[in-house]
Amino acid sequence: MKPSHIEHIGIAVKNLDESIKYYQDVLGLECYNIEEVKDQKVKTAFFKVGETKIELLESTDPEGPIGKFIEKKGEGIHHIAFAVDKIEEKLKHAEDKGVRLVDSVPRKGAEGLDIAFLHPKSTFGVLTELCEDKNK
Ligand code: ZN
Repeated sequence: MKPSHIEHIGIAVKNLDESIKYYQDVLGLECYNIEEVKDQKVKTAFFKVGETKIELLESTDPEGPIGKFIEKKGEGIHHIAFAVDKIEEKLKHAEDKGVRLVDSVPRKGAEGLDIAFLHPKSTFGVLTELCEDKNK
């Protein structure tokens, strides 16, 4: 599959504003984008660390995926996202290798990326996202 880099790390938080303060004031990173992804019932905040981003995720609905995650496991790392090209082919490749897909067809994620998730049961416990920036 050969991802070019880790596109972002998704971190589930209870309170976006408070966690943004930590990333800004303690780590000295700049929040350059806040975006609601209605589809996923989350509000997201983004920071750049080199080529990789930190994506903070606050649930807008207790029944949404992040709401449920926090209820079960508490705050913390939720997923890791790899940058790939030709995402449809990469999904097919994963499926051919026996990996269970959450999304068999890519959908639109934050920042206009095409994204798809691989199921953590097939990825040794790590919810894995593939993303492709088709705008560049
Ligand atoms: Zn993500």
